[in-house]
Amino acid sequence: MQPSITLGRVAGIEIGLHYTWLLIAVLITGSFVGYFSQTNPQWHTKTTWSAAVVISVLFFGSIVLHELAHALVAKARGMPVRTITLFALGGVAHIEKEAATPAAEFWMGIAGPVMSGAVGLLCAWLATLWDAGPVAVGLTPPVAVLLSLSSLNFMLAVFNLIPGFPLDGGRILRALLWRIFGDEDRATRISARAGQAVALSLFALGLWEFLALESLSGLWLGLLGWFLLDAATASYTQAEVLTGLRGVRVADVMSRDCATVRADLPLQRYADEYVLKTGRRCYAVEDRGAITGLVTPADLGKVERARWGDTTIAEVTHPLHQLRSVSPDTPVVEALQTMGREDVNQLPVMEAGRMEGWLSRSHIMHVLRTRTELSM
Ligand SMILES: [Zn+2]
Repeated sequence: MQPSITLGRVAGIEIGLHYTWLLIAVLITGSFVGYFSQTNPQWHTKTTWSAAVVISVLFFGSIVLHELAHALVAKARGMPVRTITLFALGGVAHIEKEAATPAAEFWMGIAGPVMSGAVGLLCAWLATLWDAGPVAVGLTPPVAVLLSLSSLNFMLAVFNLIPGFPLDGGRILRALLWRIFGDEDRATRISARAGQAVALSLFALGLWEFLALESLSGLWLGLLGWFLLDAATASYTQAEVLTGLRGVRVADVMSRDCATVRADLPLQRYADEYVLKTGRRCYAVEDRGAITGLVTPADLGKVERARWGDTTIAEVTHPLHQLRSVSPDTPVVEALQTMGREDVNQLPVMEAGRMEGWLSRSHIMHVLRTRTELSM
């Protein structure tokens, strides 16, 4: 999820807001206006509204603190964090690498709920300090705001501790199972299954609340369940793919038969004599005896067909120094992550400055299919 509005940076991490967050801000403000009108009818309308708006702004801050706790532990453990985005269903920290050890996963997972619990305690403590003076009737607005924030933060901590991946509790469960079984993928599969069960329960509960009790918050719970189900299912699938690829290195699946084309070859001859005749998907470009880059049939589309006669390969080549490459020893799982990050479908395989071959997503899919067929 890309942030729509960038708010600033904390410790090198960009804090962003997705426009759907406005939904939750309106929902929270609306709920607290209703709540305060009932519990503190003596308040002026302006006071009621201000208190509700202040709560929704400070709750926003609470979620940033929660995500920041995850992010700072991740950073300290060598996992870079790019952004924290807040959206309709909470916050998400974009952590670029998976945890390398169960301990790293455990501390990263528990940091958020611990932070929310601490903020909850702090707000409750501040409320008791503020409340020390004599109060005639009901709560003063600052005390009411602090107590509401305190319970919101405790709810945030407790909800996130539900043991279903990818909730924080699911991460903690995954870390513990990983530690017990010594098998990361199995731990992910079990905690993602737990995540699916939690998500379905939330969805059913939300639907019931909406239909039977005609409560709007049921709609929100249902959406949350839907979103979680999606995320848990994706995690499960990803774990299955990773299991299929563990132990496979780039050298085991890459193509070595990269045909070579000359940099000064016109595109028309490349199309006629190479692409159409051989059906190959990848060509190394040679210029004065050295490989300078890669070209694929898709690159023909960059130039109008009428100009293929007077355009050379060199003009559409992806230069080697601009391409992310992998070595034959790189685990395929890592190469797949590189492709995802760089948004490419193929990577040159380089060793000691020489191009050894190339790797594409279809190579990897082929391995996965073969392995699934064998295990059936
Ligand atoms: Zn969290």
